[in-house]
Amino acid sequence: IPALRLARVERRYPEGEGFLEILRGVELALMPGEMVALVAPSGAGKSTLLHVAGLLEKPDGGDVVIGGRSTAAMSDAERTRTRREEIGFVYQFHHLLPEFTALENVVMPQMIRGLSRKEAKGRAAELLAFLGLGERLTHRPAKLSGGEQQRVAIARAVANAPRLLLADEPTGNLDPQTSRHVFSTLVSLVRASGLAALVATHNLELAERMDRRLTLRDGLLVELD
Ligand code: ADP
Ligand code: ADP
Repeated sequence: IPALRLARVERRYPEGEGFLEILRGVELALMPGEMVALVAPSGAGKSTLLHVAGLLEKPDGGDVVIGGRSTAAMSDAERTRTRREEIGFVYQFHHLLPEFTALENVVMPQMIRGLSRKEAKGRAAELLAFLGLGERLTHRPAKLSGGEQQRVAIARAVANAPRLLLADEPTGNLDPQTSRHVFSTLVSLVRASGLAALVATHNLELAERMDRRLTLRDGLLVELD
């Protein structure tokens, strides 16, 4: 079953007397282990699509199906629970908590989910080591490089073993070489975990390394190449 399915998803924003139609019936099936690039010009609706897919915004029509479960009729509480359990987010800026160490930043979401501190620490340390940060566990974000900060943000996003990872320009704030390195780490993680990832990016070189490339055209998702 798809990790994420979008079925005729619509989203519009009020504009003047009428509406700005951003998503007009978007269809998508993203399978476990699949890594898909979303490449489209600024203003095309990439963030809107990620927010709707990530249950941060409700669609105006259609359904977002996470791991086979329809969210259309869910209460706000169920949507929030589904988002916390099933979906990880990575953004252009890391949004790590500055007063906490790398390890603590990754432990936190797991403790919120109810894991014991010991279990959470074990998993966080393992994940950070996988991402090449085994020597950085006790560093605060300000003591880490941009690429390291972003890798901690990736570890935090997948700490609760979500089914789906949504990334909005995850390397947008990094220089080209660091971008490549962070992206390679992300690919290894997706391949090792069987997580499905939808990654909005302007970086065509990185998009080429994903399984499929999609763009938004007139409010619909279209395959590139
Ligand atoms: P992208 O991520 O591709 O740059 P966005 O999804 O951020 O595109 O935005 C798509 C369009 O929707 C833009 O024209 C933007 O101004 C508009 N938009 C986004 N969010 C809102 C909102 N909350 N209210 C009104 N218009 C919005
Ligand atoms: P953009 O790509 O449009 O710049 P941001 O990274 O700034 O997006 O975040 C978009 C919105 O989503 C913000 O209003 C932010 O507060 C909200 N947001 C981000 N992550 C979460 C989350 N895990 N839970 C709830 N809201 C979130």
